[in-house]
Amino acid sequence: SAPANAANEGRIIAAHGRHYTVELADGSLRKCFPRGKKAGAAVGDRVRITPQGQDEGAIDAILPRRNLLYRSDEMRSKQFASNVDQLLIVVAVQPTFSDDLTGRALAGAWSAGIAPLIILNKTDLVDALPAARARLAPIAALGVDIVELSALEPEKVHTVLAPRLAGRTNLLLGQSGMGKSTLLNALIPDALAATREHSTALDMGKHTTTSTRLYHLPAPGGDLIDSPGFQAFGLQHLTREDIIRGFPEFTLPIESCRFYNCTHRHEPGCGVVAALQAGKIDPARYALYQRILEENLAGQQRY
Ligand code: GDP
Ligand code: ZN
Repeated sequence: SAPANAANEGRIIAAHGRHYTVELADGSLRKCFPRGKKAGAAVGDRVRITPQGQDEGAIDAILPRRNLLYRSDEMRSKQFASNVDQLLIVVAVQPTFSDDLTGRALAGAWSAGIAPLIILNKTDLVDALPAARARLAPIAALGVDIVELSALEPEKVHTVLAPRLAGRTNLLLGQSGMGKSTLLNALIPDALAATREHSTALDMGKHTTTSTRLYHLPAPGGDLIDSPGFQAFGLQHLTREDIIRGFPEFTLPIESCRFYNCTHRHEPGCGVVAALQAGKIDPARYALYQRILEENLAGQQRY
């Protein structure tokens, strides 16, 4: 394998099924294939490669990851993004967003040690705005930041959102219809053009679909990973401890659970159940915890 050499280290910025686009430190792009039959890489991975020819290379090693995320597709869970600092959950004033999906997105982020940021889009639909805010109140009560904007006003997107993305790798999530594509275009006006350009440059051909892509944001900077259709994490691989980390409001109540291995469901002397009964934990959040745990125990997932 290649000697450790910073010039041969880079980051995966796009996944194309069998191969990946790696951006090296000097900004050059290479079409890289994993060596042998190693487990798949993910967009956001920092890798060491051996350059081959003009613009290809072999991925020798994936450098240690801060986190590795799975998305849920048709009952399957597949890894797709890594080294993420912040999850952007796009919800809209209209149509109504799913509380279940939002809760799962938060749980997935927290369990992976990622800070969530809710983006409430379409604030121009002023009549429906108060109802949307009310539906987000339980989430705001957990201490999650909520940024309100309209993706149809790029200047304002730049003012209120761009500074919060700087210096981080952000991952974009949203149910269809919430305005994720419109927001992506407001943040990176040439996003689609850039994708086309680098596909052509590396001769990937028109039949190559880019499922997941990391974009560099214009000043003040930061990176943004977009995975078309991504609206739910795969939570199947999580341990019970991971799932509980997805519910930070349980942390304090858990300290008074009688049993160290309490699952916070039917055990006597459970601090979480006590907090629930005392009205200190949102019943909808607790019900979501139970659903995720049961799906996990059954080794299956609904999304
Ligand atoms: P996606 O499915 O999440 O990618 O959603 P799109 O970006 O395709 O947006 C869905 C629809 O909502 C489109 O008709 C957009 O024009 C519209 N839309 C997006 N952002 C806004 C907004 O801020 N205000 C309003 N009124 N409509 C928006
Ligand atoms: Zn308990």
